Amino acid sequence: MDITVRIFGAPGRYVQGAGVINELGRFLAPLGRHVLVVGGKAGLEATKAGRDSSLPAYGLTQTEALFGGEVSEGEIRRLAALGRAHGCDILLASGGGKAIDAVKAAAEDLGVPAVIVPTIASNDAPASALSVLYHEDGTFHRLRPLKNSPALVLVDTRLIANAPVRQLASGMGDALATWYEADACRKSGALNNFGGLMTAAALDLARLCRDTLLEYGRDAVRACENRTVTPALEYIVEANTLLSGLGFESGGVAAAHALSEGFTVLHEMHGYTHGEKVAFGLLAQLALEGRPAAEIREICRFCIDVGLPVTLSDLGCAGVDEARLRMAAEAVAEPGRPSHNMPFPITGGMLYEAVRAADALGRQLKAE
Ligand SMILES: [Zn+2]
Repeated sequence: MDITVRIFGAPGRYVQGAGVINELGRFLAPLGRHVLVVGGKAGLEATKAGRDSSLPAYGLTQTEALFGGEVSEGEIRRLAALGRAHGCDILLASGGGKAIDAVKAAAEDLGVPAVIVPTIASNDAPASALSVLYHEDGTFHRLRPLKNSPALVLVDTRLIANAPVRQLASGMGDALATWYEADACRKSGALNNFGGLMTAAALDLARLCRDTLLEYGRDAVRACENRTVTPALEYIVEANTLLSGLGFESGGVAAAHALSEGFTVLHEMHGYTHGEKVAFGLLAQLALEGRPAAEIREICRFCIDVGLPVTLSDLGCAGVDEARLRMAAEAVAEPGRPSHNMPFPITGGMLYEAVRAADALGRQLKAE
């Protein structure tokens, strides 16, 4: 494209509320007739009662498929083939981030709308037109941009309140980075996921995302611990799912996400969520940017309060040797990685030092 364009993308509909799963049929009816429902065991179970009661009322039928566990090329092919075999005209993800990314890609291959029903608010995958693909062994493979955004994202906050609080906190980690990364992209002029410049809307949504987290995040964690749906929980579910999703794909990602991808080569971190790795990646990005100490401390303190990792030890890497950490940092600095969306030149050495600085600050604040 030889002209500069601003591009903003969004899902066809976003629906959120306590008990809204019981209205699923009403929102699916305009999109198709037969639904392939994909999720892990817990993800399928969480939405089963709502699906079983509301789909027949609108003349919809469904076939359940257990998700294989990894967003691999093979799993995407398998789900698309299943949908084809059952004559499905909607693919619906009922579960967490990986099932969601697999369904979005499989729906595109099948040529049917993707519908996302997150049962946890652990990351910002639901609203975006992007799937993050992994190898079967869990290491990062590639980003797959999709032609269309999901046709419908439907979030039942009652389900989110019943899900583990660690998942909600992970979503906050993913969402917390959104504004800082969009701001880096604004300064560098980096293109967003649609290959365009960001709109003012994307930057403002990203800022609202961060402000919402800092204002309501702690209360939302308490609500989730008590399994109650409060206004704070509603605000945070929207921030984790809608604001973060719109903000990152129409704004752009930078060092925090680049580092979280790089961390997947450290096997010690495999048990940690995307959002947990992004949260620590964000602390490193803030150090890399030389943000004011008070601002970095505010973000670090927030992470501690909501249970997000702020040290390498929190991510299972207490004794990780320097050489492997340097190797991971070098990989993050490879050409084409989003670390180069930062508004200054990036080297592996700089990223390594930033990770060390974040770790030192985290240890210091935890000791205070
Ligand atoms: Zn993310």
